[in-house]
Amino acid sequence: MKYCKTCLTTDLRPNAQFSGGICIACRYATTSSNGSSSLKLRQLEELIAAAKKKQRSKGSYDCIVGVSGGKDSTRQAHWVRDRLGLRPLLVCAAYPPKQMSDIGAENLSNLISMGFDLMAVTPAPKTAASLALESFEKFGNVCKSTEMSLFSTVPRLAIEHGVNMIFWGENPALQVGDSAVEGVDEFDGNNLRKLNTLTEGGNDWITSFVTESYKAKHYFYPGEIQFKRKKIKIFYLGAAWDDWSNEQNSTYAALQGLTLRPGDEVETGDISNASMLDEEFTNINMMLKYYKFGFGRATDLVNEKIRGGELSREEGVEIVKKYDGVCSDRIINGFCDYVGIDNNRFWTIANKWVNVDLFDVSGIGRPQPKFVVGVDSES
Ligand SMILES: [Zn+2]
Repeated sequence: MKYCKTCLTTDLRPNAQFSGGICIACRYATTSSNGSSSLKLRQLEELIAAAKKKQRSKGSYDCIVGVSGGKDSTRQAHWVRDRLGLRPLLVCAAYPPKQMSDIGAENLSNLISMGFDLMAVTPAPKTAASLALESFEKFGNVCKSTEMSLFSTVPRLAIEHGVNMIFWGENPALQVGDSAVEGVDEFDGNNLRKLNTLTEGGNDWITSFVTESYKAKHYFYPGEIQFKRKKIKIFYLGAAWDDWSNEQNSTYAALQGLTLRPGDEVETGDISNASMLDEEFTNINMMLKYYKFGFGRATDLVNEKIRGGELSREEGVEIVKKYDGVCSDRIINGFCDYVGIDNNRFWTIANKWVNVDLFDVSGIGRPQPKFVVGVDSES
């Protein structure tokens, strides 16, 4: 396992791309300071003008903004309405009731109370629970089906409602270094369909599992032909303003009434207390990611701060050592209850996905790291 020389990204990250020992996100961070954010905002506005159909006269929405009960949503919704002057329809692929947190529900109603139109779509609850277990067994990912539903619902509704512009917040190519989704420029989200979670394993595992096609369709990303026919364009907002980051977004959102989770980092491993507010099972995925690839969410958050000059790489190492892979038994037991398995079964499945070059696995229980954070190793 090799680390980026600037941050703590490793070459085991799916679709990682290193050049001269530096990851794609760090390379972008040094080049992007060349363009001012106001110039980028103008570029984005020009792209939007080109994509915009004459929908206003029909009284319909200009665009769809994909939202959740999380921190980025509040900022995105305001930005699109107040800075870009567009009429957005907010679309949320909500979680089934047993997965959705009270905080997530509060944050969604906060968005509605700020005057936005919001459409929430929820999957059939029993199908969602059994697909979560199937995702875990088959892919070592408790949220794969949830993520598929999240990314697919927004373009599906855009196509159904004849709205051709979609906004997401962060560009995964630039923020975490997933090169597969890189577009023609930093705003271009039309390669989102290549996101690892959407492509890995295809759709067949869902159709073979969920026999009613109307329930299965909830999880499928619309095809390229449908995108072309409806002239659907996806834009990332993050690149257009210079203070887009996890921390800035949660500060902004908190000022607008978003509920955070202070003090929860010992349970969730989330040092920002602001990611994954709307449900808790993603924390399990962050732990599983750590066991598979040797890095977790603390690494991603720390990397952002290293690139922003807020932390040194050495300070980052200490935080990552403390928080990567943290996820409490309470959260794990909540998932077990949701999908109908016991704790032993959970660790039996989880430990099949552990990278044994990086971790010691002994029987049922939590694996122990064999590597040193920030130091390259042979595995
Ligand atoms: Zn890096």
